[in-house]
Amino acid sequence: MSKEVWTIAEQFDGKLKNISFELLAWGRKLADKRDSKLVSVLIGNGVNDAELEALLRHGADEVYALQDPGLARFICPAYSAALEELIAEYQPEIILAGATSLGRTLMPYTAVKVHTGLTADCTGLDIEEGTGNLLQTRPAIGGNIMATIKTANHRPQMATVRPKSARPLPEDTGRRGRIVRITPKNPPRDMGIVVEGYRREEGEFTNLEEAEVIVAGGRGLKKGEYFNLIKGLAEKLGGETGASRDAVDRGWISYPHQVGLSGKTVSPRLYMAVGISGAIQHLAGIKTSECIVSINSDPDAPIHRIADLGIVGDAFTVIPELMKRLNGKGKV
Ligand SMILES: Cc1cc2nc3c(=O)[nH]c(=O)nc-3n(C[C@H](O)[C@H](O)[C@H](O)COP(=O)(O)OP(=O)(O)OC[C@H]3O[C@@H](n4cnc5c(N)ncnc54)[C@H](O)[C@@H]3O)c2cc1C
Repeated sequence: MSKEVWTIAEQFDGKLKNISFELLAWGRKLADKRDSKLVSVLIGNGVNDAELEALLRHGADEVYALQDPGLARFICPAYSAALEELIAEYQPEIILAGATSLGRTLMPYTAVKVHTGLTADCTGLDIEEGTGNLLQTRPAIGGNIMATIKTANHRPQMATVRPKSARPLPEDTGRRGRIVRITPKNPPRDMGIVVEGYRREEGEFTNLEEAEVIVAGGRGLKKGEYFNLIKGLAEKLGGETGASRDAVDRGWISYPHQVGLSGKTVSPRLYMAVGISGAIQHLAGIKTSECIVSINSDPDAPIHRIADLGIVGDAFTVIPELMKRLNGKGKV
C-alpha cells in the first residue's frame, strides 16, 4: 500500500488559501496510516517557491506544481483537464479537496471524467484496517445521522472536506521535500470562458469561518433585540457574531451567522457561547475552536461540559459585567 495520497491546494492571486494547510493535516494522518506519500497538488499560476515550500513545512512530502497562465483563475474544465492528466500519470489512491466553491465544482467534474465516486462535504476521514480503503464520514439525512462511505471498487477515492474540520499542522521549519514542477501537456488556452474579475458579495457579510473571536448567542437571549448585547461584546473583542439555529429560526439574526451542522463550521481562537445549550448539532460546528467559553444559567447545560471555561450565570448580568471590565472600569 504505497500509492499516493493527494490534497488539492488552493490559491488566489498567487497566495495559498488556508484550506490547503487544513487538508494537509487530514492527508498526513491518512498517508501515515497507509504508509503512503503525501502530495500537495497546486494548480494555478504565479505561486512562488516560498509559498510552495510552506506546503512542505505543513506536512506534504512532495508538491506537484502545475502552473500556467491559463490556470491563473479557476476555470473548471481547464483545472479538471490538468488534474486528469496528473491522475493518469501518477495513479493516486486518494484525492482530497476542500468543500469550497472550487472543490465542490472541480471534484465532481473530475470524478465523472476519471470514472470514480466522490463523497462530498466530509467531516471525518480515516483508513479502514486491512483494506486500506478511505472511510469518508459526513452528515446524512438532513444531519440526523453520520454516514461512513467507502469507494471500494474504483480509484482514486475522492472526497471534499469541510473547511475548518481540521487545524493545520504546526509549521516545521526543518521539514524538507521535493517540489516537482509540471508543465501541462495540453496548456489550457481558449476554454470558451473568460473570468472578468471578482466582486465581494454585497449585503450582510460575515466572515465567521475566518474569525479569530466569535461571540454567539442562543435562545437564552430571549428576544432578538437582546442580540445587541452579543454584538457589542463581539465588537469589543474585535470578533464576529454567531448564533445557534434556534436564534436564527426565530428571526433574531440572519442565517449567515448560524454555527453548527446546518450552518458554518468555525475554528476561532476564542468561541463564546451565550445562552446556548450545546446540542450536538451546534457542537459539530465548533469542535476545532481553540478555547470555548460558555455562559449559561443552567449548571447542567451540556455546553459547560465541553467548554474550557464555563460561567454559570445569567447572560444579562455576566455580559454587562464583562463589558464594564473590558471598558477599563474594573478588573477582567
Ligand atoms: C438536522 C439538524 C440540524 C441542526 N443544525 C443546527 C445548527 O447548525 N446549529 C445549531 O445551533 N443547532 C442546530 N440544530 C438544532 C439543535 O438541535 C438545537 O435545537 C439548537 O442548537 C438549540 O439552540 P439553543 O442552544 O439556542 O437553544 P436551547 O437548547 O433552548 O438552549 C438555550 C439555553 O439558554 C440557557 N439560558 C436561558 N436563559 C439564560 C440566561 N438568562 N442566561 C444564560 N443562559 C440562559 C438555557 O439554560 C439553555 O441551556 C439542528 C437540529 C437538527 C435536527
